[in-house]
Amino acid sequence: MFFHRDIGIDLGTANTLVYVRGKGIVINEPSVVAINKKTGQVLAVGEEARKMVGKTPAHIIATKPLIGGVVSDFEITEQMLRYFIDKVFGKRFFPWPQPRLVIGIPSGVTEVERKAVEDAAKNAGAGEVYLVEEPMAAAIGSRLPVQEAGGNMIVDIGGGTTEVAVISLGGVVSASSVRVGGDRLDEAISDHIKEKYSLAIGEQTAERIKIQIGSALPPEEEEKMEIRGRDLFSGLPKIIEISSSEICQAIQAELEEMLQCVKSVLKETPPEVSADIIDKGMVLAGGGSQLRRIDEYFKMHTGVSTQIADEPLFCVAKGTGMVLEHLDAYKKSIMTKKG
Ligand code: ADP
Ligand code: MG
Repeated sequence: MFFHRDIGIDLGTANTLVYVRGKGIVINEPSVVAINKKTGQVLAVGEEARKMVGKTPAHIIATKPLIGGVVSDFEITEQMLRYFIDKVFGKRFFPWPQPRLVIGIPSGVTEVERKAVEDAAKNAGAGEVYLVEEPMAAAIGSRLPVQEAGGNMIVDIGGGTTEVAVISLGGVVSASSVRVGGDRLDEAISDHIKEKYSLAIGEQTAERIKIQIGSALPPEEEEKMEIRGRDLFSGLPKIIEISSSEICQAIQAELEEMLQCVKSVLKETPPEVSADIIDKGMVLAGGGSQLRRIDEYFKMHTGVSTQIADEPLFCVAKGTGMVLEHLDAYKKSIMTKKG
């Protein structure tokens, strides 16, 4: 074989990553599509589309087709997949044989949603399509020994969802997910700033605040940040200063929802496996795991030790890649088709 045409895709709510067999991760772009509402035409995908968010004229909308972790818009998801597949193979050169695809999808999806992803991938030019649950892919990508008997706990905090799973012998023992992730933290921050300072800020500003001064537990050292937005009363631009401890306060309710999800999985886990988890701890992956002190937050409230995966944003993509390279070995971890 001269070319490897097989690819793994992490179809995340915030970011789409593409892994090419033999090469590694070659694409890492936001899961955003810009559309002309009047004509239905796709104007831009990925990074280019993200730059348009909140800055486009009224008839151009920049959407995240996977908001909430599911395919909320089938056609746009298909176009997005096609864009990324074309980007890997080059538009003029139709890949033949058709590439095999391993795609990570959220664990809570319905049969219909699963079929939608599969069809979108096939329409976008894929041959065989294998679906892997995201927490499984994240666990594999974090190099947890998922094939062994024993509990491996993974918490994947993405943009739209937090997915928690305990994995043993290549399969999911217990799992749960909530539609709360980094995006909801951003919303909580902008709500807080709206209420306290009557200041409207954009999505990207809220995210920047979270990344720069956000913390799950009260920050060890208070930090300040200057924010620009629009005054809700005067409509004029305004600058305010916020502190890291108030941002920590503002996101507590959302963190609590993530924590409840983690606790519900621990409760469902059989005792023998639980014992393992106490020994091994849980691994945090996804972009949200980079929030400051979130590992300590989970440890403090569950008593289970926590560890942040290496390159948490890449775990799912690396996991789909590893499944791709060893399809046979990971047979048990691939979702089987029903009907
Ligand atoms: P998805 O799998 O849903 O595409 P990702 O795993 O790519 O999501 O994570 C994206 C989320 O991680 C976004 O909400 C982003 O704001 C958040 N994020 C990225 N870096 C940080 C950071 N340093 N601190 C807090 N959150 C972060
Ligand atoms: Mg993800």
